[in-house]
Amino acid sequence: MSAFSSSKPVVDDRPREFCGLFGVYGIPEAGSMIYQGLFSLQHRGQEGAGIAVADGETVSSAKGQGLVSEVFAGKDWSTLPGHLGVGHVRYSTTGSTRIQNVQPLVVECVDGIWAVAHNGNLVNAERLRLMYQEAGAIFQTSTDSEVLVHLLADPMFRKRPRRVARALAELEGSFCFLLMTRNCLMAARDPHGFRPLSIGKLGDAYIVASETCALDQVGATFLRDVEPGELIIIDETGMHSSMYAEVKDESDHARCIFEMVYFARPDSRVFGENVHLARVAYGKRLAEEYPVEADIVISVPDSGNSAALGYSIGSGIPLEHGFIRNHYIGRTFIMPQQDDRSAGVDMKLAVLPEAVRGKRVVVVDDSIVRGTTARRRVMRLRDAGAKEVHVRISCPPIRNPCFYGIDFPTSDELVAGGMEVEQIRDYIGADTLGYLSLEGLFAPFGEKCGFCDACFTGKYPTDITGISGKHALEKESELDLEL
Ligand code: SF4
Repeated sequence: MSAFSSSKPVVDDRPREFCGLFGVYGIPEAGSMIYQGLFSLQHRGQEGAGIAVADGETVSSAKGQGLVSEVFAGKDWSTLPGHLGVGHVRYSTTGSTRIQNVQPLVVECVDGIWAVAHNGNLVNAERLRLMYQEAGAIFQTSTDSEVLVHLLADPMFRKRPRRVARALAELEGSFCFLLMTRNCLMAARDPHGFRPLSIGKLGDAYIVASETCALDQVGATFLRDVEPGELIIIDETGMHSSMYAEVKDESDHARCIFEMVYFARPDSRVFGENVHLARVAYGKRLAEEYPVEADIVISVPDSGNSAALGYSIGSGIPLEHGFIRNHYIGRTFIMPQQDDRSAGVDMKLAVLPEAVRGKRVVVVDDSIVRGTTARRRVMRLRDAGAKEVHVRISCPPIRNPCFYGIDFPTSDELVAGGMEVEQIRDYIGADTLGYLSLEGLFAPFGEKCGFCDACFTGKYPTDITGISGKHALEKESELDLEL
C-alpha cells in the first residue's frame, strides 16, 4: 500500500517497506489473535495498525497511528467479536500519515461490507483513480489500495460472476491483498508474486500472513504460499483456490529478492527459503568474494547480523559486537534535516569502543542506500579507535528505484545511482568496500529464476513506461538524456 505523496523524514536512510498482513478464519477470538500476529509483522510497518473482524453478521474494526502495542494498548477484545478477520501494519510517507489511510479500509457497498488490507504498490492506481473520480466517485484516502474498493463496487464487476477475480485482474504492480466480507476471508497475490504471502493451519482454522514468523507466533503450521496470480477464498465450506491471472511458470514470477536481503525477519521462510540461512550464505560468499586480513567482524544490527555471522564463518575472523542498538528509539525519533538525521543514526547505534579500538574491523551491513548512514558509521568507528574499517555489503549496489512497494529514493539520491564502487568507498571513508555479486545473491536459490532484481540491474519485470510519480518522471528524463 503506498500513498500519493512522498517526502520522508527518516531517522536514517534504510529502505522502508509498506505493510504487513495477517488474516484468520475459524478462530473464536479472531481479534486478539490478529493482534499477536501483527506484533510479529511490526518490522514491516510502524506507523499505523488496524484490525477488522466479522462474526457472520456484523463487521467491527479498530485502527490507529503508531505501533501495534500503542494502537491496541488495553484493548477490550470483546468489542471486536468475530471468528474471522484481517489485520494490517503500515509504513507511510509523510504526507499520508492520516488516520484515514490506516488499513484495513472498511467500506459499505450496495451489497455488503468489505474490509481491505494491502501490501505492495499498484502502478496503475493513479489512472484508475482518475477514471473513477471523473465518473463521480469520491475517495476517502490517498492510498493506492482504495482503487480495489471502487473496482469491487463497480457495477461492471459487481453484477458478474467471479467479481473479485475480475477486479484483481485490472490491477498492475505488486500486491498482496486480504479481503473480508461478513463471512468470508480472501487472499490474493499479484501474478508476479513480488511480495510474500503464506497460509497456515491451526486445527481447523486458517491463518494467512505476510511472513511465516507470524504463523509461528500463533502456533500455526505452515501449509503453503499463496501462488502468484492465485485467489484463495476461505469460508464455512473450507479453503478454495482459483487462478485469476494466467501464470505460465516460474519464469513469469518476479519475487522481490530484497525481501531476503533486508525486509523479512530472519526466522521467516520467504519464497521457500529460511531468511537467516540465506543471509549466512550471503556472508560466507562475501568472505570468498572480498577476503581481507582483519581482527574482528562486526555487524550493523539487526539486519546485518546473519550475514556478519556468515562472513565470520567463511573467513575464520572472530565475530564481535561493535555496535549496540538502541531498541527503544523507534519511530518517535524522526528528524527531517540531514544534520538531525546523522544525530538519529548515532542515537540508534552506539559504538563499543573497547571492542574496536586498535583493531582492523570488517563491518557487514545489508545494503547502502544514500551512503550518508554508512559514511557516518565508518567515521564513528574510526573515532572510536578502529585501525582499519572494511565494509562488506550483502547485496549488489542499489542503483535504481523500486516501483513495487519499496521506498527507495530516486536514482539521484541513491549513492550507487551516480558512483562506482571505488567512488563510494572513498565517499564513505572505508579502507575497502565489497558488495555481494548478483550471482552470490541468487546462489541460495540455485539457478536464478522468477525473481525481481531491478533495483540492482535496472531490468524491471513489468513495463514501467507511463507510471506516474517521481520515480517514473525521473526515469523518463533519464531516457530523454540518453536519446
Ligand atoms: S526493484 Fe528491488 S526492492 Fe523493488 S521489488 Fe524489485 S528487487 Fe524488490
